[in-house]
Amino acid sequence: MRFLQLLTIPSLLLLLVTVTPISATFYTNVSSVPPLHLLNATRSAWETFEKLAGCHAGNKTDGLSKLKQYFRRFGYISSASVANFTDDFDDVLESAISTYQKNFNLEVTGKLDAPTLQQIVKPRCGNPDMIDGASGMNAGRKLRAVARYSFFPGKPQWPKRNRDLSYAFVPQNNLTDEVKQVFARAFARWAEVTPLNFTRSESLFRADIVIGFFSGDHGDGEPFDGPMGTLAHASSPPTGMFHLDGDEDWLISGEEMNRRILPVTSVVDLESVAVHEIGHLLGLGHSSVEDAIMYPAISGGHRKVELAKDDIEGIQHLYGDGGSSRRNETSGGAEFWRGLVFSLSSITTCILLICC
Ligand SMILES: [Zn+2]
Ligand SMILES: [Zn+2]
Repeated sequence: MRFLQLLTIPSLLLLLVTVTPISATFYTNVSSVPPLHLLNATRSAWETFEKLAGCHAGNKTDGLSKLKQYFRRFGYISSASVANFTDDFDDVLESAISTYQKNFNLEVTGKLDAPTLQQIVKPRCGNPDMIDGASGMNAGRKLRAVARYSFFPGKPQWPKRNRDLSYAFVPQNNLTDEVKQVFARAFARWAEVTPLNFTRSESLFRADIVIGFFSGDHGDGEPFDGPMGTLAHASSPPTGMFHLDGDEDWLISGEEMNRRILPVTSVVDLESVAVHEIGHLLGLGHSSVEDAIMYPAISGGHRKVELAKDDIEGIQHLYGDGGSSRRNETSGGAEFWRGLVFSLSSITTCILLICC
């Protein structure tokens, strides 16, 4: 995703020119999602991969070349291997599958077994898991590594002089205040554990971060793919490009979906995706920790918005905690003193009662 690290003002102008009407629906609560929208969660450009179950080295099967494109997109096959994009299950594909399995905590078989395919078809972030053949996820780790968070190559971050970051929305999207509030909540989660502050700007060209919903090819070389598949992508600092797939259906209420519709819905929780992409905008790469916000995949209907220990350690490695731990200690200390005063006053009351 080098392109996203290189976007400049002319590129931004090009993007604005390519903004097309989006078909995204924003559901304000779960009960407003019509039953017809409860699609099969795997119904996407990737659903055909399920037919590849059981394929292994030496097979030649229709669809394997498309799977190689998938792995190239997420960094598991280098662009230099394009000549190998046949339907042959070759060494390049086997190696990509093994690395993918390591990154997603799956048994490393090098085969297209059911758990691997179930993971592959899940909706996910469009940013790659590997950049220039290197992985910050499990596959790039020594055994027993505790921290799984990762950074972009060169560990880019927002400069120290810029701790107050502004964000703006592409005006052509005509987002409601309710939708914009979802992003404010997502930014606040990162502000809470860092010295960073985020404020909304009305000026697209002065804002540090530009947020927009786009459909299909939107001029940055990373087209979106309609419902499910890739949901969003974001650049590393200090570029500030945050793009979401305008063809998804988004839930903006902050509610959990009930378990009955969870497995069959294609509605995506917007705040969950926003918190993840902001992690990229601040400099974090993907993590193998499934509970972490920076884990690359999320199923339709699921909500995951709380920063995990892995996310917090990663972001504080870049920016420090901004006194957030001190604030917690202080509030803990205040509670201690309040408790002590209460206990002392209770003891005094008891003594007075006994004496009287
Ligand atoms: Zn991501
Ligand atoms: Zn984009």
